[in-house]
Amino acid sequence: MTPPQKPQVLRHISDLRGFAADAKARGLRIALVPTMGALHDGHIALVKEGLARADIVITSIFVNPTQFAPHEDFGAYPRTWDADLDKLSAAGAQAVFFPDARDMYPDGFSTSILVGGVSAGLEGEHRPQMFGGVATIVTKLLLQAQPHIALFGEKDYQQLQVISRLVIDLNIPVEIIGVPTMRDEAGLALSSRNAYLSAEERVIATQLNRILFRAAEQIGAGGDFDGVLREAREQAGKAGFDGVDYIALRDARNLQDVEAGFTGEMRILAAVRVGKTRLIDNVAVRGYAVPV
Ligand code: AMP
Repeated sequence: MTPPQKPQVLRHISDLRGFAADAKARGLRIALVPTMGALHDGHIALVKEGLARADIVITSIFVNPTQFAPHEDFGAYPRTWDADLDKLSAAGAQAVFFPDARDMYPDGFSTSILVGGVSAGLEGEHRPQMFGGVATIVTKLLLQAQPHIALFGEKDYQQLQVISRLVIDLNIPVEIIGVPTMRDEAGLALSSRNAYLSAEERVIATQLNRILFRAAEQIGAGGDFDGVLREAREQAGKAGFDGVDYIALRDARNLQDVEAGFTGEMRILAAVRVGKTRLIDNVAVRGYAVPV
């Protein structure tokens, strides 16, 4: 068997522009998959979905400093370039954009994209700098690659809504595709930050998805919103999490609060802490019908 073709490594914005322009000139459809690296099967699911929907997948790997607060884990964030390249080769991605921070943030950089509405609350409340950093870097990547589609994980559900909003508001001609969350065999949502977990912490972390799926099932079966959420928070405490930033039920389309009797699509979103690791996850509420 011939070894998989290594993706072309694009180090500079001019390389990315040139690669994308050349692919477009050949009539090829381009998918962009922005990541911060330390790739796992969740990222690779985005690459594969991109390959199913387009001819060329460009993955970007950039640990974006502006979306981390000074006390957060920018320095410690896992960087696994060689393994990432192997995974992208095996998946069939044609290119990887791996820029330097100086290229992305030239001297005197002073522009920021701020998305209102969906950025407020949840992650926006607990990590106030994050969505500004994410929206700005994603806008920059979309402007340079000008892909036909860009893929993002439902794992970061609020981020997916923020990006969907920003491309509508700024009339960026790209289709944003959300890809379902990949989980391990115990249901733990795959995350680069899971690498921080000790064996004991991983056992605790795995409880989160069970708590959320159970709460979603109870709400889907007509359970009282406040009661179900209260119980979920209590269970998180008992499971050994060191803190619950939020476990919240929201309108899946705009992340607004929902009142009893709400009949639209809903999502339960959560952020918890175990040791020094902060985990987020979310699940859809299915089969909900207003109790009669
Ligand atoms: P990150 O490298 O964590 O910034 O993530 C890059 C992209 O991969 C984002 O669109 C994430 O939502 C997505 N992603 C991360 N983890 C998962 C997962 N477990 N399943 C699906 N997508 C994911």
